[in-house]
Amino acid sequence: MRKYLVVLALGLVAGTLSACSGSQKAEPVATIQHDSLNIDGAMRLSDVTVPKHYELDLTIDPSSEQFGGTTRINIDLSSPQRVLYLHGEDLNVEALTLVSGTKEIGGEAVFGANGGMAVILNEEAPAGEATLVFKYTAPFKEGLNGLYRVKEEGLWYAYTQFEPLDARRAFPGFDEPKFKTTYRTTMRVPAGMVALTNTKETDRVTEGNLEVFRFEVSKPMPTYLVAFAVGDFDILESEEPLDGVTLRLVAPKGKGALGEYMLKRTPAVVRYLTEYFGQPFPYEKLDIVAVPNFSAGAMENIGLVTFRDSLLLLDSETASVAQRRSALSVMIHELAHMWFGNLVTMPWWDDLWLNESFATWMAAKGLVDLAPQLESSVDAVSGKGWVMMQDARKSARNIRNPIETVGDIHNAFDSITYGKGARVLQMFEVWMGPEKMQEALRAYTSTYANQGATTEQLLAELDKASGKPVGEAMKTFLDQPGTPSVHVDLICEDKPVLKVTQKRWLPAGSDAPNQGLWQVPLCVRYEQRGRSEVHCELITQDTQNVALEATRCPKWFYPNANESGYWRWTMSEDALNKLSSRYLAELTTEEKVGLQSNLSAMLASEQIPPDTYLKSMEALGRESNRTLLLNTLGAMEFVNRFVTDEQRAKWTRKMSALTARRMRSVGYLPKANDAAEKGLLRARLFDSHFALTQDPKAKAEAQKIADAFLKDMKTVPADVAGVALEIVAREGTADLWLSLKLALEGAPTPAARSSIIRALGSFKDKDLHNKSLGLYLEGTIRTQDLWAIMGPSFSDDTTFANTWNWFTSNYSAIVEKAGQQAASNLPRVASGFCSADGAEKARAFFAGQPKVEGQERILDQTVEAIQHCERQKKYLENGLPGYLK
Ligand SMILES: [Zn+2]
Repeated sequence: MRKYLVVLALGLVAGTLSACSGSQKAEPVATIQHDSLNIDGAMRLSDVTVPKHYELDLTIDPSSEQFGGTTRINIDLSSPQRVLYLHGEDLNVEALTLVSGTKEIGGEAVFGANGGMAVILNEEAPAGEATLVFKYTAPFKEGLNGLYRVKEEGLWYAYTQFEPLDARRAFPGFDEPKFKTTYRTTMRVPAGMVALTNTKETDRVTEGNLEVFRFEVSKPMPTYLVAFAVGDFDILESEEPLDGVTLRLVAPKGKGALGEYMLKRTPAVVRYLTEYFGQPFPYEKLDIVAVPNFSAGAMENIGLVTFRDSLLLLDSETASVAQRRSALSVMIHELAHMWFGNLVTMPWWDDLWLNESFATWMAAKGLVDLAPQLESSVDAVSGKGWVMMQDARKSARNIRNPIETVGDIHNAFDSITYGKGARVLQMFEVWMGPEKMQEALRAYTSTYANQGATTEQLLAELDKASGKPVGEAMKTFLDQPGTPSVHVDLICEDKPVLKVTQKRWLPAGSDAPNQGLWQVPLCVRYEQRGRSEVHCELITQDTQNVALEATRCPKWFYPNANESGYWRWTMSEDALNKLSSRYLAELTTEEKVGLQSNLSAMLASEQIPPDTYLKSMEALGRESNRTLLLNTLGAMEFVNRFVTDEQRAKWTRKMSALTARRMRSVGYLPKANDAAEKGLLRARLFDSHFALTQDPKAKAEAQKIADAFLKDMKTVPADVAGVALEIVAREGTADLWLSLKLALEGAPTPAARSSIIRALGSFKDKDLHNKSLGLYLEGTIRTQDLWAIMGPSFSDDTTFANTWNWFTSNYSAIVEKAGQQAASNLPRVASGFCSADGAEKARAFFAGQPKVEGQERILDQTVEAIQHCERQKKYLENGLPGYLK
């Protein structure tokens, strides 16, 4: 799954997930008391009952309030049983039977907590093969998980999102990833609609007013990868031959043409991955489906990959470079899952990183290879800095974290599993050599094809291919939280030696434990006779000397060559000063961005004076690379919130010197044959430039662009229009609000729609802002867009106060609409605060609400972020006069 914006997460529940699911002994008595059973879906299933094959027969009419069907599961019983444990949630079981040979045994379905379900048979079933048959109905639920429905331009559609724990709400089954089985599906849908699932259709017939679709038997799949889609779709088939894989784009009626761009980009991704793995694409069919209301970014269901519509439906005329980049990146991520997760599946959620870290790592790698003009490796360094901040929290998870509650499963879909995991893989890829990594992954995906595999099995392949103890070193990053902070001193007495020490990196004021010992693959770049050399060595001790292959004392060194390692560094003040000034030109762009990121870390741990930090950031922002500029502007926008009235004029002059010339050279609107660099910079520079300088010219441009967009939404790129609309909406009147509301209804693309929603969320006028927020609860703004409507207020204290008020006053309605799973993430709303008072408000509010699984950890993380924000604000406030001198 590719998470969206803020991390998908949730969690918390009583009871631990121990290894076995209650008593499964043969039960001789005739009556079994329900309360004597331990039916908790949070507990792991035993291997007493093993599913072998599913026959799903579903009747799905998206315009109806419920669906239903028959599920047949071929099982293998290792011993005679009266009670079988499996999963099912909100299912109304009308009949159930167990067929064993010629014997048919009736029974009763009993439901427990967390989607747990027990089948109590009327008599003991013998050991051996049997078939469980359920006839049931179930409601389409609120929220965007399980089997849910969406109304789009007057037409009803049904889609699924089962990962991690919601297949159990669509059909009874053994909803745990260790069980990989085959499926044969039949779907009955209203005439005129099309039904889709993981495999190819074999035939369709009309029965009364229903169209009956039958599908091929699948390859082995875990339940969380099963998927269905029903509706009157536009379906476009790719004309490009793709080695026996049928590739199609599926969109809501009338939207298919917007999918052509990504349909054309997808074959290159398939070829890139099949070449990397040295294997054909594992499945014969690939439907890429644009879903109009979707909680995650995308989901890698076998043969039926679902996407948030903005990632598949792009207007090839006006889509921004950033939007194209996101779409390509998510496509690589999802298709990489065909191997990482789908072909080879983790047996349990503690190994989720085998899916998500790998898919995220592959997306970063693929983006560099498939779209080199985007220079994405530089952005990846910025992303790493952000993840390291999350990793410094006291509440940070391990990449491989024990699962003790259902909440832990939902919490596992976070920036640690995705971002940290990917960067750790990249670090070891560099250390092993990319060819060895590829060799290991080819062996891993072919050895365990169509089966399950664990971390230990993966690490064994890495060791084997590299001939190095990669696994042992990697575990020091997988199994403990935190980022190493490596201090490097250059000592030139006899031969040049680096004295290296390590500890956990923490921001000032943190009370997280600072112990930790990592095996750090250190690759240092250093000057030698006017050229640069790289020396790599594994640091295993807390203090270690590294001898350089050098005859002279290097004039400079950069501790983390090309910034490919997942660790932070510090050095002496003298060495740092030289590196940031005289020898800056010697660094690669990745290293310059790394320098920026490490300076920010030194600021957070209060190891450099705030005015030195601001001056260094300003200097790095003057470099030509866009990422360096944007990082600097991000840092300055944080300061911008607390510049005093007396400081304002000087501050604005300084900021203007940083942004105005760049804004002129990039321009407010794209020109023909613009470089990708400009496309990636434009909207964000526009936004920062105006925020930092309040430039009247920029405001006039914003008005012009907003007017043009509202007149014809197809004439301006949605990202630039979005910035312009936000600028004018902040001071906007009721007339503008009405125009935006009207524009929302006719938005030609998902990107245009998002821009309008963000503008609606930007009004400073309290009544208009409240009317905008109200659009969410009345359903004009879709469930998936909750963060888009709230987000713009997070950087403005007054508007945020209004959002917080709305959020807390309507909390139960918001939870009901979002569904329990998305609700786990809601404490992040408090991240708009930057004061102890705000942290207190957040704690007090959530303490008074019904418990939602997974919220506890998210709330802890958010409160820590607020505390850090307040401390950093005070530190920078003190340094501001020195910077402005
Ligand atoms: Zn994923």
